[in-house]
Amino acid sequence: MSSQRSPLNLPTINVPPHPEWPSLSDSETTALKTRIKKLLEQQNAVLVAHYYTNADLQALAEESGGCVADSLEMARFGAAHDAQTLVVCGVRFMGETAKILSPEKRVIMPDLGATCSLDEGCPADKFSDFCDQHPDHTVVVYANTSADVKARSDWVVTSGIALPIARYLAEKGEKILWAPDRHLGNYVQGVSGAEMLFWPGSCVVHEEFKSVALERIKRLHPDAAVLVHPESPQNIVDQADVIGSTTALIKAVSEMKNKEFIVATDGGIFYKMQQMAPDKVLIEAPTAGEGATCISCAHCPWMGMNALQNIAEVLESGANEIHIDPAIQERAVKPIQRMLDFARTHDIGMKEKGNA
Ligand code: SF4
Repeated sequence: MSSQRSPLNLPTINVPPHPEWPSLSDSETTALKTRIKKLLEQQNAVLVAHYYTNADLQALAEESGGCVADSLEMARFGAAHDAQTLVVCGVRFMGETAKILSPEKRVIMPDLGATCSLDEGCPADKFSDFCDQHPDHTVVVYANTSADVKARSDWVVTSGIALPIARYLAEKGEKILWAPDRHLGNYVQGVSGAEMLFWPGSCVVHEEFKSVALERIKRLHPDAAVLVHPESPQNIVDQADVIGSTTALIKAVSEMKNKEFIVATDGGIFYKMQQMAPDKVLIEAPTAGEGATCISCAHCPWMGMNALQNIAEVLESGANEIHIDPAIQERAVKPIQRMLDFARTHDIGMKEKGNA
């Protein structure tokens, strides 16, 4: 297990090794999928999976009438679906967001230990103190936060809608307290010109992309377009042809004329990109280079905690249900709703704009 210490005496984030699941033969995979589909039907449940989960799992979500999406779309799909149980395959804040938007439904997850370095690095008590120290700032938090942190915010944003909301607040003369991802915050500030104060969080996966190694691979593939998620450091963002949310990057692969793409985000996204554009060549942006640790090697270890095996187990045991204090739910839904209302009134298609 690796660890990262954040500044300002924030808690040490323990980054687990990427889980090694026993490999399954084709017949075992088919049998397991059949078992899960039956359990889903019996329990009036639907599977919602994030783009960063593994390919078998994303395929199962699609085959079984569920969805593969970004975190907000996962929550919105779950809220709109008739199913009474949502099986959320992703990381914990995604299960919490689904529960916040669907408090009457049962939300279960394959592994409640699947968290996120952004969420872990922004404990609600310390964050609340930070907000108290800056009462003249509007609190804007990224979706990758706990229900408690969302409940302390004025706005929740996804990576797709962060820019228009920052511009809107800046035009009103509001100063923004931004949390938790400083790289995304830095990007939003640079483009919007908003006055922003940052919480010092980061994504351990995107932070590993290496700029010199990326320059080198660009030289090897001069016609490739470079796609970068804005959770990446500035020196990676600076080399991008397209900077955008998961949904925006998937769209870029199918719409751009380039044949090759160098992709700086979690490799799980390749499943959907390849499905949308089977003739395109996808190259992982390098995580090796000077100072490389390759804690994740562009594969989120927490996303890797989701597998066919533990989906079947959780459906059979009924364990790993997400519970949120109703008072927190009531407060946390407001800044999410504010974002959804903003998207509607400003004609911003959240599905297209996407999220981390
Ligand atoms: S890829 Fe990064 S932001 Fe996404 S869940 Fe993993 S640690 Fe969090």
